[in-house]
Amino acid sequence: MHFDHEVARILQGAGVAGALAGRTVPAPVYEWRNAAGETLIRFGRDAERSLSGWPESSMFCQPELEAILDARARALPTVSVERGAEGVGLRVGADRVALDARRGDGRTRRLEARYAVGCDGANSFVREQIGSGWHDLGFHFDWLVVDLVPSDPRWEGPLNWQLCDPARPTTLVSGGPGRRRFEFMRLPHETRDELDHPDAAWRLLAPWGLSPGNAKLERHAVYSFRARWADRWRAGHALLAGDAAHQMPPFAGQGLCAGLRDAANLAWKLDLVVRGLASEALLDTYATERAPHVSAMIDLSVSLGRVICVADPAEAAARDRRMSAEARTRTSPVAAALPPLGPGCFVPGSRAAGELFVQDRVRHRGVSGLFDDVVGRGFALVSPAGDPAAALDAEGAAFLAALGGLTAHVAPGAPVDDLAGGYARWFAERGAAVALVRPDFTVFGTAPALTDATALVAALRSRLA
Ligand SMILES: Cc1cc2nc3c(=O)[nH]c(=O)nc-3n(C[C@H](O)[C@H](O)[C@H](O)COP(=O)(O)OP(=O)(O)OC[C@H]3O[C@@H](n4cnc5c(N)ncnc54)[C@H](O)[C@@H]3O)c2cc1C
Repeated sequence: MHFDHEVARILQGAGVAGALAGRTVPAPVYEWRNAAGETLIRFGRDAERSLSGWPESSMFCQPELEAILDARARALPTVSVERGAEGVGLRVGADRVALDARRGDGRTRRLEARYAVGCDGANSFVREQIGSGWHDLGFHFDWLVVDLVPSDPRWEGPLNWQLCDPARPTTLVSGGPGRRRFEFMRLPHETRDELDHPDAAWRLLAPWGLSPGNAKLERHAVYSFRARWADRWRAGHALLAGDAAHQMPPFAGQGLCAGLRDAANLAWKLDLVVRGLASEALLDTYATERAPHVSAMIDLSVSLGRVICVADPAEAAARDRRMSAEARTRTSPVAAALPPLGPGCFVPGSRAAGELFVQDRVRHRGVSGLFDDVVGRGFALVSPAGDPAAALDAEGAAFLAALGGLTAHVAPGAPVDDLAGGYARWFAERGAAVALVRPDFTVFGTAPALTDATALVAALRSRLA
């Protein structure tokens, strides 16, 4: 239902921003209330802009996004899509993998490749094949999840709420334009089966004024939320991504976001390794960078889950007293920052290394828009202080060119015109004159003088080697 600004930028990079236009709703607030309607926590998010050039938070419908991504993948000449085939065997050799895929007609086909990435969800067969175990926080609850379309598009329910009512912990959020998502926790005396039924959904929706007469039930399912991540993300030429590598309760809206961050982190590394531009050791930085980020997200999701997954009235009353007192002392909404990446492919000790780099509106060669659309993507050597291309020695320039990297002088009135001053602010706040940015929008390193551009590129070269 929810993705954040970094994920919006990843989707922009995947070429689906146009198809997503009109299918998302910015989410300026995320309220946590008790049964009496008092605020326990109020998260505030900027609905207009963010570091990444998109709303900080957007609500959407995952099946719609998946259909858009599917169409995009099929349109790429480098991708072939085979539906209805099940991976049943994986052999990981010294430098190749072989995957046995069983088709609907029962026949099995062997696919061979340099690498396989198991994005095969929570019950991942690839994870089993590579012998990975779990770090499991032991937090699991069953919730009935209901998607519906009210017939009156102006149906005015609460925008994004967690209703921490011990009589029925309930999630009420937007599901993108025209859609609503409700989630109802299974109470201790209920069985999964009695909850997993349309009648149960309508019974629980009735207090919100929703019935078959004024809304269409798109789907309902009981999910078990878990909090765990794989202890091994790579075994030689086989890797894991998405829910295959980690699962979290949905209260921070970060499970799919984490999977897309995995893809963005891994894609450029695999690309460089396959093209012989980086050593295979680069692939180890995938897990060292991503696992701490994802475990921090899981911790956050569990701590939010501990607030709402409370069916005991006395426990809920104690929580309400403590949290509403805290909420009254706050003068502004809580801002939830993204956690940092773990150690990996960065310049050690460099200011801002591992941070997400800014994207803002620019004008370049007469075209205005977001930087990635107007200037380009990939490795980027960016400076507000002058032309980074002119500051690079020949060797550095050739290496960056081999990686398909770009250089940009971004400043008011420069060849890349910093229209809203976002780049000037980002560099000033970090005391930096030049930044080398990775294709996943993460800062590889910064330096205080433009003359250090060559050293930054040399550091990348040695890191990749
Ligand atoms: C109620 C709920 C609310 C959520 N809300 C949010 C939210 O607001 N924001 C957010 O970011 N995330 C949210 N999530 C999490 C998000 O839905 C998941 O993290 C995401 O779907 C994981 O994507 P995935 O591609 O890794 O795995 P999946 O979506 O599980 O996809 C795995 C795919 O692999 C296929 N597969 C499995 N085994 C095989 C095999 N052997 N061979 C071939 N194919 C196979 C499956 O059929 C499936 O198509 C929510 C989850 C739930 C349950």
